[in-house]
Amino acid sequence: MAKKIALITGVSGQDGAYLAKFLLNKNYKVIGSDRRSARNSQWRLKRLGIDNKIIYEELEMGELFDIDRLFKNYKFDEVYNLAAQSFVGSSFYSPLNTANITGLGVLRVLECIRTLSPKTKFYQASSSEMFGDVLEKIQNENTPFNPQSPYAAAKAFGHFLTLNYRKSYKLFAVSGILFNHESPLRGEEFVTRKIIVGFINILKKKKAFIELGNINAKRDWGYAKEYVEQMWKMLNQKIPRDFVIASGKTYSIKDFVNEVAKNLKMKVKWKGNGFNEKLYMKNNNKIIIKINKKLFRPSEVNYVKGNITKAKKYLNWKPKVTFKKLVEIMVKEELENLK
Ligand code: NAP
Ligand code: GDP
Repeated sequence: MAKKIALITGVSGQDGAYLAKFLLNKNYKVIGSDRRSARNSQWRLKRLGIDNKIIYEELEMGELFDIDRLFKNYKFDEVYNLAAQSFVGSSFYSPLNTANITGLGVLRVLECIRTLSPKTKFYQASSSEMFGDVLEKIQNENTPFNPQSPYAAAKAFGHFLTLNYRKSYKLFAVSGILFNHESPLRGEEFVTRKIIVGFINILKKKKAFIELGNINAKRDWGYAKEYVEQMWKMLNQKIPRDFVIASGKTYSIKDFVNEVAKNLKMKVKWKGNGFNEKLYMKNNNKIIIKINKKLFRPSEVNYVKGNITKAKKYLNWKPKVTFKKLVEIMVKEELENLK
């Protein structure tokens, strides 16, 4: 039987790398799009040992001709649209770029599918950030969005367009509303990996302390490797449907810090309040975390918690990796990579 062909936009990112590995194991031919300007960003694919197994095609999400060319050169069975300006923090500083890449980029791909390849199945990487200042305590597929950043607004645009193209043109186009998912392949700008790398640098005496912003924000964190598999499942359902993928548990950034310290056997204590709150080493009172006002966002998502009833029912899925296990996996691999 001929191999299925999948396009992963953003193959060099955390999810792109795990998804590529998963699809290669399922015997797909994987076309991975990357940007010529960022050809050195294949460390994740190298880490997973698959950098030579992917067919790379240049794609800038802002450039319609790039996307159009790809659809003229290949007959994709499945397209996973993961490319995005994906960092909420940056979206406040580059809102137009975020709208163009994270929002309009989705429309560019959908238009190519509609006009050139309507049988191609499409997955859109939607985000729990769309729930923003949450309008329901636990969020599911029907919870209204209330975005709090240019990133979240752009994702909501992509989400609604995906739904609209499914209804208007009968495309098999779905969105996975994924809550935060982390791994040893997470970018260092995101808080989880920043904390782990920071702690290890403190232990190695390469750094004196870490600076963080809002440590009281709560996130529903899961393991990226498990989550990307659900993207494939969503495209391999009989009926196209959107799904929330989450752990159903929520923890603060402070909880994450405490769990990392525990894994590294560092005895620590918090003291002070608000901007003056600090984390100290118990043995010598050295400060290892300070709060920096500049790292607070102009508008924050204080709390999210997902409801995965629908994913349990249709995808027969529930997460295996707990919060504690996730931290353990991330710390362990970070230490191993130092060797
Ligand atoms: P990531 O590691 O930041 O990867 C983003 C990818 O997008 C990279 O491959 C990047 O390529 C590519 N990209 C950025 N700008 C581009 C542009 N202008 N043209 C073409 N490619 C571009 O993100 P991730 O964690 O894997 O997330 C994957 C997707 O899921 C993203 O859309 C993200 O917004 C969404 N999402 C993530 C989470 C999460 O917790 N991880 C939760 C919900 C939704 P370069 O290597 O060239 O920069
Ligand atoms: P996000 O949920 O996609 O924005 O993922 P992040 O990992 O970037 O941020 C998660 C939460 O951590 C947000 O509420 C941030 O405000 C909070 N946070 C606190 N300090 C930091 C920091 O130093 N860096 C980042 N990235 N986030 C921080």
